[in-house]
Amino acid sequence: MKRLFWRIYIYFGAALVVLSVFIGLIYTKLNRGNIVEVYQEQLNVLAANIGEQIRDYVAEDDADGFFSYLTALEDFGEMQNTDIWIMSKSDSKYGMSSDFTNIELENVKLPEKTNTLIDNAYLGKAESYSDFDTIYEKTMIHLASPVVNNGGKIMGVILLNTTVEGQEKTISQYQKYLIISIAIALIASALIVTFFTRQIVHPISKMKRLALELAKGDYVKKTDILRKDEIGDLAKSLDVLSDKLKEAEEMRDNLEQSRRDFFSNVSHELRTPITVLKGYAETLADGYVIEPQKQQEYFSRIVRECSSMERLVSDLLILSKIQNPDFELDFEVINVIAIMQDVLRGMRVMLSEHKMAVSLDYENEMSFALCDYDRIRQLFMVLIQNSVKYSEDGSSIEVYIAKEEGQIVIMITDHGIGIAEEQKEEIFEKFYRGSNHSVKDGSGLGLVVAKGIVERHGGSISVISTLGEGSCFLVRLPEAAPPKM
Ligand code: ADP
Repeated sequence: MKRLFWRIYIYFGAALVVLSVFIGLIYTKLNRGNIVEVYQEQLNVLAANIGEQIRDYVAEDDADGFFSYLTALEDFGEMQNTDIWIMSKSDSKYGMSSDFTNIELENVKLPEKTNTLIDNAYLGKAESYSDFDTIYEKTMIHLASPVVNNGGKIMGVILLNTTVEGQEKTISQYQKYLIISIAIALIASALIVTFFTRQIVHPISKMKRLALELAKGDYVKKTDILRKDEIGDLAKSLDVLSDKLKEAEEMRDNLEQSRRDFFSNVSHELRTPITVLKGYAETLADGYVIEPQKQQEYFSRIVRECSSMERLVSDLLILSKIQNPDFELDFEVINVIAIMQDVLRGMRVMLSEHKMAVSLDYENEMSFALCDYDRIRQLFMVLIQNSVKYSEDGSSIEVYIAKEEGQIVIMITDHGIGIAEEQKEEIFEKFYRGSNHSVKDGSGLGLVVAKGIVERHGGSISVISTLGEGSCFLVRLPEAAPPKM
């Protein structure tokens, strides 16, 4: 958790610092440029004013007046750290006399740029430049402005050399404020970043904990994060995952339980006939039963138990096959009526033994479905056998095959003992034997096999029944197009 927290924190922090420094630099640069520019403008006005004063003194030829003005001007210049030089070319036509200047340039060595400035001023242009003076170790502004007489002719030039010391002070003052504001902004941002980072990291670590719990197999806990953003979505997915895992675990437990039940049922179902068999066989072997008629009776019982065991084992075998998805059925499009006719033909002897009359009717003689012939045959046999088993001898069974919404519906109706309402679901469960089975033979696997077969065919099986009146088993199979001849 800490690592992500610090990582986000550092990223945000670095971005903020870079931004602050950037803004600070731009601000300082702009500010410095601006201040120097304003100051240059002020100097320009000053030079123009001085120029006008000089023009008046020259016009009146008032050298004394100019002298006192110049003295005051130089005092002012000193205060402002500004050299005010007034110069003129004495040999020029409109040049001023040395009474009105305060410097002779012949002996002064000036930088190249300043000379250009003066030359341009003589041509009538007021210009300035600023640079870093290596002698004074300060930024200097140099400004030259022409002194013009009443006729517009250039008499001389005023040169102002000044430092921007005062202005630099203002700039550093600004910078100080800027640094303080950046520092405050950084602290405020740090607090905000801490808050936001927590908002991200906290739920993530919560989800991590939940994931670890899930990995350990504890599916009870939830993230309890309710947010309408990506993190909220992720948390919800985790909660859903936890629910699903819980469901899967419950299903696994149920499956495990039914597997255990199945084994114990199978063992029980096998043990009973084996015990009985052993009893009869031992009695016969010990020679206690001497009368041939009695012996015969014992042998028939042994045979009966063996057949019931055989039936049970074969039902189990079929069940294990039908429930195994790897066991492939042999599908082909077949007319369901034909299969039913085959089944009834095969059961003729058994039916007549019980004096049962079975009728077969159908809505449409083209009742095709995609079937595994042997399995569907087995399904019909289970249902007809049950109808015979759970009906009085001499009663009747009606088979009707209809078509309904793309399905073939096979209805097997008997007038037997019927099934109680609360048992209608349970009869399709393994080893379930209804309270009505009384002394009839059976394993409780017939309907399970039937249901397995129907489901492997993509169909369904259900029962309508009234206790004491009879039952109707309905099998629905998806209809198939008749095969092309
Ligand atoms: P078994 O017949 O071997 O007991 P089944 O799985 O075939 O096992 O049937 C389960 C139970 O459903 C039976 O014990 C019986 O109670 C009930 N049952 C099945 N078919 C019928 C029917 N046609 N009429 C009444 N009860 C039936």
